[in-house]
Amino acid sequence: MNTKNRTSLATRVIHAGHEPDPATGAVVPPLYTATTYVQDGIGKNRGYDYSRSGNPTRQRVESCLADLENAEAAFVFPSGLSAASTMLATLKPGAKIVAHEDLYGGVYRLLAQVGPSMAGYDVELVDFSDAEALSAVAQGADLMWFETPSNPLLKIVDLQAVAQIARDVGAVTVCDSTFASPCGQLPLDHGIDVVMHSATKFLGGHSDLLGGVLSVSERAPEGLVGRVGYLQNALGAVMSPSDCALLLRSLRTLALRVERQTSSAASLAKTLSENANVYGISQVVYPGLEAHPGHAIAAQQMTNFGALISLRLEGGLDRVERVLTSTCLFHFAVSLGSVESLIQHPASLTHAAVTEEHREKISIGDDLIRLSVGCEDLDDLAADLDAALRTA
Ligand SMILES: *Cc1c(COP(=O)(O)O)cnc(C)c1O
Repeated sequence: MNTKNRTSLATRVIHAGHEPDPATGAVVPPLYTATTYVQDGIGKNRGYDYSRSGNPTRQRVESCLADLENAEAAFVFPSGLSAASTMLATLKPGAKIVAHEDLYGGVYRLLAQVGPSMAGYDVELVDFSDAEALSAVAQGADLMWFETPSNPLLKIVDLQAVAQIARDVGAVTVCDSTFASPCGQLPLDHGIDVVMHSATKFLGGHSDLLGGVLSVSERAPEGLVGRVGYLQNALGAVMSPSDCALLLRSLRTLALRVERQTSSAASLAKTLSENANVYGISQVVYPGLEAHPGHAIAAQQMTNFGALISLRLEGGLDRVERVLTSTCLFHFAVSLGSVESLIQHPASLTHAAVTEEHREKISIGDDLIRLSVGCEDLDDLAADLDAALRTA
């Protein structure tokens, strides 16, 4: 069912790509594990020949995701990074990439370390939340790559401003929207060409699935949809049918989960910032707080302020470690967006691949921790943080 533009996301996550099975009426679509399909004649089949090139279960999850993002087409990959590397393969060797200076560590490694040595990409890092700084380096760019909110500093990038700058210089834009999910923002509606997700995070939402997504706008440069689809098959980075079925199932609760997670995060961020002195916190970073420099833009382009909160703690690395290991409900583990709350330390975990020099430049210090707020009861989460921050 194409539900685009007719119903709200909370309905679309349940119905898009989820029509009852025409053969049996089953309300949950069947999982097609077959790797190969009988051909009716030379050049004649029923839409499928080999599972890497096309699979009915994958097609359902891709049509659901395309519908949610208001995209022309979506493609799923076995991880967020394989989605990113497939996107990079659309470029010519030596292409100029302008990327946000605050990125997930693995994407930073792919862009700034692997890309230049593998394909001679010329990669320039700049603060995308500063439109003037971006304009200054945009000339000649083939690709602009950014996250908003960014990881782990939760910087907000003005989607429309970036789309405009990119259009002026003829660059393709990719927004890694993992931190927002489609229930937090729809970058394609603001003129961005491609949205990327690590489906491992909010889309999967249960810490039991690795995956990635590229959704391409109908307004993207001509041929890009076909090129990404061609490369998904040609490079072979496809999500397995069982993971597609698991992802399709997870998406049905995306709106519910995100609503709960983001409202709890907003409340916790407020409590933490109001009690910063008692809790030994030197800074609470959350786009929903008015003090956040990107608050006004976030309020315009997002439907909520996300479920991630970053904190700078007082008391040095020893105290940071005590806090990380003394929460009970917030597990000390990487990743985010899942039903269980997580607490992590970017400098030693998600951003360990980032050079010390760059971490210092953008201030990912030892004092920074990041919370991903899950679906537990809000009072229980608040009590867990309260106990850990008061005693550690
Ligand atoms: C996790 C993450 C990725 C990488 O995705 P994987 O599924 O781990 O390969 C990319 N971008 C962001 C913002 C992430 O949080």
